[in-house]
Amino acid sequence: MTGSPADKTWDRRLQRANELAAAYPFAAEGLRFYERIAGFQKSLYAALAPGNGKAQTARPPGSLRDELDLFFLLPRFSTFLAFVESIAPSPLAQSAAALSGEGGLRWEAVLDEFWRSGAQGMLTEPEALLSWTFLQPYAEYLARHTEPPEIQGTPAVCPLCACRPQVGVLRPLGDGAKRSLICSLCATEWDYRRLVCPACGEESVDKLPIYVAEELPHVRVEACDTCHCYIKTIDLTKDGLAIPVVDELAAIPLSLWAAEHEYTKVSTNLLGI
Ligand SMILES: [Zn+2]
Ligand SMILES: [Zn+2]
Repeated sequence: MTGSPADKTWDRRLQRANELAAAYPFAAEGLRFYERIAGFQKSLYAALAPGNGKAQTARPPGSLRDELDLFFLLPRFSTFLAFVESIAPSPLAQSAAALSGEGGLRWEAVLDEFWRSGAQGMLTEPEALLSWTFLQPYAEYLARHTEPPEIQGTPAVCPLCACRPQVGVLRPLGDGAKRSLICSLCATEWDYRRLVCPACGEESVDKLPIYVAEELPHVRVEACDTCHCYIKTIDLTKDGLAIPVVDELAAIPLSLWAAEHEYTKVSTNLLGI
């Protein structure tokens, strides 16, 4: 039996992480951690597939975050916390253990808060990181079964779930490239103008510095001197095999450069960079 396109999405992420870990020793530890987390995310996604008890109805646009199936999610969150406790670096492992010990009512409140706010909200940083990592495949599943929204202009947040972008992408278009953004929660990709800050809307080219490190010529920092935010953008015209959400995890030299220059990332990733 062959897998669905969604299965291949997860397999491609896992394979890319494995390849990058071998190619970039400085990023190997983080990518190996990502591989294990993504393996869990893949199985959670698969549990949502038709035939596994989750109805595959098309949802109207804009309704994605109305649906938080705690009956499905809570037992799996318990498993997830135990898993993170066993494989994560110690500060995150301790946070997972602490949250695990707080029990179901607290888990419900934490997941609900993250889902409603789409960000840290009232949660601690580790609670938000654990919630995001756990809910991301759930949101991605819902997004794939939601009618595509009509997009007005170039929104700086996801047109499906209103979360901030995780990473930018440059895709070949004619002789040049067009930019899009990928949602940090539901992984929806939407078109975005090339020379606009996705955090504050700044459009002056001289306020929008770009930095590329020689180790990873296909990844760039797109920063903004007005709001001091930045996003990493993966240039698929330079490496067509890149998987944006994975390649940005490998781009540690860019994160160091951005931190030195006091830019804050629009959405931090699993590795906190
Ligand atoms: Zn989204
Ligand atoms: Zn800005």
